[in-house]
Amino acid sequence: MGNKDFFDEEDKKLIQAEYDSLVNNLIRCNKPGDREVIDKAFRIANDAHWNMRRKSGEPYIIHPISVAKIVNQEIGLGAKSIITALLHDVVEDTDYTLDNVKRDFGPKIASLIDGLTKISGTYNKENTASMQAENFRKMLLTLSDDMRVILIKIADRLHNMRTLDSMPEHKRMKIAGETIFLYAPLAHRLGLYAIKSELEDLSFKFRQPHIYDEISAKLKHSEKKFYALINKFSLPIIDKLSKAGTQFDISGRPKSIFSIWKKMQSKNVPFEEIYDVLAVRVVFEPDPGIPEKTQCWNIYSMITDSYLPKPDRLRDWVSRPKPNGYEALHVTVMGPEGKWVEVQIRSRRMDEIAERGYAAHWKYKGDSAQENELDKWIKKIRAMLENPLEDPMEFLDEFKMNLFSSEIMVFTPKGTLVSLPKGASALDFAYEIHTEIGNKAIGAKINYKLNPISAVLMSGDQVEIITSDIAKPEKEWLSYVRTSKAKEAIKDALKTETTNRIQKGMELLESKLKELGVSPNAEVVRKLMLAYDVPNKDELYSGIELGIIKLDNLKKIVRKTPGKNVIKYWELKLIGSKKETREEQDKTEKIDRNVPFLLRENVENAEQSYEIAECCNPIPGDEVLGYRSPDGPIIIHKPKCPVAIRIMSNEGNRIIAVKWAIHKLVSFLARIEMSGIDRIGLVNEITNIISSELKVNMTNINISVQNGIFEGTIDIYVHHTKDLNNLILKISNIKGIENVKRVEDFSK
Ligand code: MN
Repeated sequence: MGNKDFFDEEDKKLIQAEYDSLVNNLIRCNKPGDREVIDKAFRIANDAHWNMRRKSGEPYIIHPISVAKIVNQEIGLGAKSIITALLHDVVEDTDYTLDNVKRDFGPKIASLIDGLTKISGTYNKENTASMQAENFRKMLLTLSDDMRVILIKIADRLHNMRTLDSMPEHKRMKIAGETIFLYAPLAHRLGLYAIKSELEDLSFKFRQPHIYDEISAKLKHSEKKFYALINKFSLPIIDKLSKAGTQFDISGRPKSIFSIWKKMQSKNVPFEEIYDVLAVRVVFEPDPGIPEKTQCWNIYSMITDSYLPKPDRLRDWVSRPKPNGYEALHVTVMGPEGKWVEVQIRSRRMDEIAERGYAAHWKYKGDSAQENELDKWIKKIRAMLENPLEDPMEFLDEFKMNLFSSEIMVFTPKGTLVSLPKGASALDFAYEIHTEIGNKAIGAKINYKLNPISAVLMSGDQVEIITSDIAKPEKEWLSYVRTSKAKEAIKDALKTETTNRIQKGMELLESKLKELGVSPNAEVVRKLMLAYDVPNKDELYSGIELGIIKLDNLKKIVRKTPGKNVIKYWELKLIGSKKETREEQDKTEKIDRNVPFLLRENVENAEQSYEIAECCNPIPGDEVLGYRSPDGPIIIHKPKCPVAIRIMSNEGNRIIAVKWAIHKLVSFLARIEMSGIDRIGLVNEITNIISSELKVNMTNINISVQNGIFEGTIDIYVHHTKDLNNLILKISNIKGIENVKRVEDFSK
């Protein structure tokens, strides 16, 4: 490096220490020469990133070294992946090119790094949404040649999340959103449980810092009691297992913050109730003479000798592993002090698969092993990638759905198992069996009962498809199916149908023109398009075939001399679209990303107005973010709103920081929901509190009473979350009220 050296002794020491902690703790890198190549990769990366710093001020090279550490120590990948991780940012950020990588490390490492490097080329600004989707797709495409790319990408994301403060501010929300939207589910799908929980927690911590802090403080507070209970519970089990001569570890770990919050939300219960279920893990060293499954059940039997099992909470992932390869036996038992304890029983091998996921899965997979559910999933994703949907955004949604949907298992009439995503219909099943069966389907016998093809299937259903030769796919069918296989097949069939129609329409037109003695040239077709007001030839032809376009005045139209109309039409279109682009750019430049946009009272002629999103209805006091919509106001969302999370992930560049300014005059609509046991005077008490005591403006109250249970919602105008919380508190103190909470989405 001939340039000036900006790193001081301290920087150099830090780099060396970080690198030492990587190479002194290497696992599975014992082939001769491994260490030399890792050192070489480090030297080259260190030179290339020399003098570069992250936003936090630390030398940039710390990031690639840390990613390499995660890749090796937490995911369990070997030398090639470590080298790739060390070099993963050089091609994108430095002068060291992909050709250099190929020259210095060979084609394999070069192709891994290429998979990690974002799409180059010039995408225009308006297209950031599809660019992000396209980048993600590019990364997934490497699934077809090397899974390691995805695993390294997940490690890269994990380190970026651990050090989110070192990322530029305007990127943070985008990164946190993408993480919860795609990377955490992806890590989960690949069986990386520990990494998945950490990604969720980190994303949550950034998106909703207040709630995160609150839960983590409560966790800390109850830590001592937690471990005391776990110990008390474990003693009899330790005793029994030791006497039986089993080698094992037993440990209890508190639930992750994000998973606690998710449960609190979905079950609408307080922290204490979620926290009440303890979880303990027993990991045993398998005895080679006995099948692991048998050993799991033996341990199950020893545990249930001491504690009574909860009958409906037995989960056997040993007999049939989860689609991502997870194996374990889960049982919930009644522990000391009347608390439920979930016990997970796993062998050392199962535990490694659970913790390290995909990488460990391959290590244990013998040649004779049958096709695993994870392999099947990867095959599906590959098929999707080989047959990409034209719109990258649509692809992203499709992929996302494939990540989340847990599988259902249904049977053919002959008893063959077919796995489908949750929510799949009989039509999905038909296409899964064969495209032709799908195309000809008219109904389904589900467990011997006749059902429409749109019927949603449940795990365990036996399905027989009824076909007819005259049946053919309809457009509505697209809304019946969930699998991309079925969707593609229906689209193909519809396309073929359209193509046939266009062909027939064209032939029809040609024969009519022939009768008039006119040859069907481009000029004639253009006249017709203009006369019938259709945008293209295909619509003209298919309109003719369908009889929508009647060729009554054909003669008149064809004979007409061409006017200037045609040209004018196109000119207008061009001018129109140009203008839009210019306006769009103006708006972009007006907003400074680094200064939060202040939400004052919306005034007319303001440079930029804003709107409150209807999906989450934030009010002053709530944490909020802004989405700069392409052609209008800034939309204000809560960071936890599902719509906002989707936007963050797909159009992160349109997210801006916003802040509530003081609202003394304006108030915001909020809704609360309550339930309880009805008694005389209850409603009166509620309305009294709202109108007289608190003097808030109530617009709507809705109450129903059934079998003595009272349920209701109230719409009110408030200035701040403080008003709302105050009101919720007051109402919850009324005798008979069991539950009061704020409603986020009014449409539900
Ligand atoms: Mn990176």
